[in-house]
Amino acid sequence: MTADCIIERLETDLLILGAGGAGLMAAMHAQLQSRQLRVTVAVKGLLGQSGCTRMVQGGYNCVLHPQDSFEKHFLDTVKGGGWINNQTLAWTLVKEAPARIIELENRAGCLFDRNADGTIHQKAFAGQSFDRTVHKGDLTGIEIMSNLRDYMLESDVSVLEETRGLDLLVEDGRVCGALLFGIRTGRFLAVRAKATLLATGGGATMYRISSPSLEKAGDGMAMAWRAGVPFVDMEMLQFHPTGLLVGSSIATGGLLEEGLRGAGAYLYNGAGERYMERYDPEKKERATRDVISRSSFLEIRAGRGSTNGGVWIDVSHLGAKFVEGNFPGMVERCRDYGFDLVHDRVEVSPSAHYQMGGVRIEADCRTGIEGLFAAGEDAGGVHGGNRLGGNGVADSIVFGARAGDAMAAAVAGVAMPAVSQAVVDTLCERWLRPFARHSDESIFGIRRELENLMWDRVGIVRNASGLTTAIAQLDRLAERAAQARPGKGLASNAAWNEIANVVNLATVGRAVAASALVRTESRGAHYREDYPATDPSWLRNIVWRRRDGEWKADLEPVEFSRLQPPGV
Ligand SMILES: Cc1cc2nc3c(=O)[nH]c(=O)nc-3n(C[C@H](O)[C@H](O)[C@H](O)COP(=O)(O)OP(=O)(O)OC[C@H]3O[C@@H](n4cnc5c(N)ncnc54)[C@H](O)[C@@H]3O)c2cc1C
Repeated sequence: MTADCIIERLETDLLILGAGGAGLMAAMHAQLQSRQLRVTVAVKGLLGQSGCTRMVQGGYNCVLHPQDSFEKHFLDTVKGGGWINNQTLAWTLVKEAPARIIELENRAGCLFDRNADGTIHQKAFAGQSFDRTVHKGDLTGIEIMSNLRDYMLESDVSVLEETRGLDLLVEDGRVCGALLFGIRTGRFLAVRAKATLLATGGGATMYRISSPSLEKAGDGMAMAWRAGVPFVDMEMLQFHPTGLLVGSSIATGGLLEEGLRGAGAYLYNGAGERYMERYDPEKKERATRDVISRSSFLEIRAGRGSTNGGVWIDVSHLGAKFVEGNFPGMVERCRDYGFDLVHDRVEVSPSAHYQMGGVRIEADCRTGIEGLFAAGEDAGGVHGGNRLGGNGVADSIVFGARAGDAMAAAVAGVAMPAVSQAVVDTLCERWLRPFARHSDESIFGIRRELENLMWDRVGIVRNASGLTTAIAQLDRLAERAAQARPGKGLASNAAWNEIANVVNLATVGRAVAASALVRTESRGAHYREDYPATDPSWLRNIVWRRRDGEWKADLEPVEFSRLQPPGV
């Protein structure tokens, strides 16, 4: 198959890849800067229905109450992040989160839960010194995404649904747009753009049990990696302690929200023991996500897991009225799979959840390459070694908006960059290669191998030998994926799309493993059983840069521009 007959071309001022909170806020803000700008959003799924912002249950952290303060939110964020956050980014998040929540209400039409006096209700979330999580019941993401979708439909933004970014178009060291692919149409689309935003939401789906939406596959990060964009702290990947276990169903890994533990849930191992009493006698089930996930993992690994290899969560002692009244979404979700959260214990497992590491950005979302911006989960640095619940969606909304503003400013008076045919052809031919020469392997089997490898060797508990093995195996898996059996034709071809997914997941997974091998300490979500202590000399960021075709890790001291960690 050749590419000539299936390439279409498009020009736009701004190209936004991804339509979660970050992508849609970027589109909104770019248009607010100038209605003349041509803004195009390409989304792998459907507008308003895809990505993890829609899945947000708990809510959005911001300082609204007079007794709360930016300083408190900032301290919680950097403490939670193991003090390796980029403090400029973290402070920007904290400072701008309140204005964006008001904007979501006043401009996009969201309505969050209220106190009796009409002020916005804010609830408790783990790791916070003040109750500052804005929410709409336990289904906050649906409120945000439905309204942002409606806003987009009434705007002049062009939306390409079921259209995935495949690779960035790079010419003379500048990003000039991207090569897209219409999943249903089977046509490539070479889009020239003055500025391009990566907002594809990371790739925690590389693990056997994971919580993010299924279409996410680390595409944005993998595109950036191939283009040689610098990355930061790729080893930092968060596991949520309470993902549902529903056998081989795709629902496995879907979350029971943190508020359950906050409200007093108990966790039991297979022997009926409240094991958190051993791991964290003070906080028990209210310990942070990393501590609970690791404890549960160690229980399961020691053979003390539940029937299906997890642990049990139990809220029945809180009373039916309380559970039904406060967690209707969670009760319904459990009921859908035949579990009774109100009266019975439910089987859960740690679930790969969120990438703190990602593309290195400035506060205006610029990356290390001209013409390319990144925001939301594709970008790294805001959360350091661990993200607080409630700071993720705030990150996407705040930095998405900033990216839109910055991109609009950056393209003013800039000419449309040229893209040579050779650049487009080379990329199309690479992606079409499996049709010309392929093995007999199913890509779906390779995907399962990848997920198992990441879970077993690059997961919650890591060590040097496992990581070294994983890196070698990931290289091999990427090669096998690129040659797997591609199916027939290009339109609606699940196998060929999965090849692209697995190649990208292996690329990002390898970066996670390589970075995890470099960090010889335990900090935040990164736990090395061969280096279990947190080492103060490791108050460093691991910045990955490509030099002379080779990726190198630079260990850069964290800049404590606002706050020093205690004792340093
Ligand atoms: C179950 C769950 C619950 C959560 N609850 C909370 C919470 O309570 N509070 C909180 O702060 N955070 C929460 N998070 C985290 C939060 O969802 C994320 O931090 C945030 O939504 C990420 O936003 P984003 O815009 O970067 O990506 P997403 O919202 O994930 O959007 C990514 C978009 O990119 C698209 N895409 C993917 N690949 C491509 C491609 N190749 N080309 C084009 N488009 C592409 C997707 O279709 C999607 O539209 C939760 C996450 C999950 C999974």
